[in-house]
Amino acid sequence: MSKQYYLITGGCGFIGTNFIEIALKKKINIINLDKLTYASNYDFHKKFYKNKNYKFYKGDYSNYKILKKIFLNFNITKILNFAAETHVDNSIYGPIKFIKNNVLNFSFFLQFSLSYFNRLNEKKKKLFKFVHVSTDEVYGSLKKKEKSFNEKCKFYPNSPYSASKAASDGIARAWNKTYGLPVIITNCSNNYGIYQNKEKLIPKTIHQALHNKNIPVYGNGKNIRDWLHVSDHCNALLLILEKGKSGETYNIGGGNEIENIKIVKLICSYLDKKVPLKDGTSYLKFIKFVKDRLGHDFRYSVNFSKLKEKLDWEPKVKFSEGIQETVDWYIKNTFNIKSK
Ligand code: NAD
Repeated sequence: MSKQYYLITGGCGFIGTNFIEIALKKKINIINLDKLTYASNYDFHKKFYKNKNYKFYKGDYSNYKILKKIFLNFNITKILNFAAETHVDNSIYGPIKFIKNNVLNFSFFLQFSLSYFNRLNEKKKKLFKFVHVSTDEVYGSLKKKEKSFNEKCKFYPNSPYSASKAASDGIARAWNKTYGLPVIITNCSNNYGIYQNKEKLIPKTIHQALHNKNIPVYGNGKNIRDWLHVSDHCNALLLILEKGKSGETYNIGGGNEIENIKIVKLICSYLDKKVPLKDGTSYLKFIKFVKDRLGHDFRYSVNFSKLKEKLDWEPKVKFSEGIQETVDWYIKNTFNIKSK
């Protein structure tokens, strides 16, 4: 059989860049299709170019011409869909862009993937999987003491972003149940790690602090997220691409629930040690509570025991270590600051 490829969409984003770095180390052949929005890490991708197992296509995942070129020229055995508009705040101010990109254009991509799948021979069909990467935000918000969401919970999305992802999950499911496309859906909790855009909580906190600017914290900062190191997410996806069962949904989580304000304070205290302010004060002084986000979900938490039991996966990176490595990377790579 000819060389096998994974088609990654949105591979220049935060998780996609981490995934490609890990997959190339495992000698997996990658085609990356990304339209290079503001959220992409194009510069960090230049280092992948010299790798003969890596090919990049710039374009929208609904673009039939580009998809045709890819599907005609490469033996795609797996598709991993990261491509999406992902920032909740942007979705609040411009919801239609999210629906068009994450729902309508995604449906075109699914449909084209289905016509590719239908033309494969039986042997290749057995190898083929389409993994749709989604979020725990589709389940909605939990109160403090409520049980974590499992895969059987109903969707109650509250933001235009999470609603667009919930819709895309439903569409992906329908293409499996109706047309037999081997789709798997994953719903993951908040990722942290390197290569993330500075609009998101952790890089934003570091960025603002190092520029001696206010660090905005929504409401009273008590909102809770479950944090998972991005490498743990990528390793779960690699496992699911290999061993996951078509038609199934898997939750992926960190078992690591933390209030936003605690993360912000932790980062400030760590920066105090690594890049102390000249006047001897703490970065904590830059924290500023701001008007709460519209429709702000209070708490996310997923039960990932299905993935643990069926595929023997669990998170490996301890938050206390992962967060320090993450902050160190941002200090060095995005601000070029010499730290202690
Ligand atoms: P990101 O915003 O950092 O990157 C998204 C990438 O997709 C960008 O490079 C962008 O250019 C590309 N893209 C967007 N629309 C496209 C299109 N129509 N065609 C081709 N490329 C397109 O996102 P991320 O944080 O890496 O998230 C990746 C996926 O994982 C998303 O689907 C998101 O919903 C999901 N997810 C993210 C998290 C998280 O904590 N970041 C958690 C759970 C699930």
